[in-house]
Amino acid sequence: MNDHQEQHETATVQKITTTQKVVRYTRALSRWVKAGRPVRDESEIIRIFQSDCRACEDYDKRSSSCKHCGCRVSESTIAPLNKIAMQTEHCPLEKW
Ligand code: SF4
Repeated sequence: MNDHQEQHETATVQKITTTQKVVRYTRALSRWVKAGRPVRDESEIIRIFQSDCRACEDYDKRSSSCKHCGCRVSESTIAPLNKIAMQTEHCPLEKW
């Protein structure tokens, strides 16, 4: 594979990954809205973030997101900005 092919391959993978992230986020948001927008308690959000996500090898500190599913994870109680806050969502690796 030459440099041009490698760049194209990388760009393609990047594009698919971004598309998958958007699709997953849209589905998560839809599930959450359909369920009546249930949210986890702030103390539970903080506990999950600190004990599971922050210590996880799939946590990307730079983008505050999960490398596995692409969703944002943090201590925020604003559910659309934080997968942990949405009570309908769970860790893709079943850590929470
Ligand atoms: S959601 Fe799960 S896999 Fe993703 S960073 Fe948190 S603990 Fe890790």
